[in-house]
Amino acid sequence: MRVALHACCGPCLIEPLDALAEQHEVVVIYANPNIQPADEYELRYETLRQWADARGLQTVEVSYEPELWERAVAGVREAPGVRCRRCYALRLSQAAAEGARHGCEALSTTLSVSPYQDAEAIDAAGRVAAAEHGLVWLFEDYRPRYPEATRRSREAGMYRQNYCGCLPSKKEADEERARRRAERRRT
Ligand code: SF4
Repeated sequence: MRVALHACCGPCLIEPLDALAEQHEVVVIYANPNIQPADEYELRYETLRQWADARGLQTVEVSYEPELWERAVAGVREAPGVRCRRCYALRLSQAAAEGARHGCEALSTTLSVSPYQDAEAIDAAGRVAAAEHGLVWLFEDYRPRYPEATRRSREAGMYRQNYCGCLPSKKEADEERARRRAERRRT
């Protein structure tokens, strides 16, 4: 099948791409209006594109409109659970639409490689997005491959971000790091 693979960043692309490319033709779709600020968005895209280009893959960028993400999470910006579910729904819906436009028959995502994401919620959002655009939903929980994705991305010298993508997640990650530093100083 021709598969639209929604990809959030280069490091997360590595392992799902290998798994899918064994059996399918993959089109990489960068649909991530959640990522802010814009220079961070560009850096992640460039990192991902270089990996895909080196493997002769087609990469499609959905136009960057962070205001769509802001609208999708209005009222739940500071509530990670529900905020992330809306974020998955938006990105996977965009990826499904773009994949359908590019002749894909199925949709998948790299999001489930990260142990920091909610795999069940990703599966649910992807199933809806794929059905809306007449695509087959190809979901796999790639979390067991996360250590290998980390190793390979480090070895390749890839840019590896230290927060999920949205500005609230950056603030949450900064706070968590500060909390850990303070804890270390106490012990
Ligand atoms: S933490 Fe990540 S998945 Fe959740 S809303 Fe922010 S960017 Fe989206």
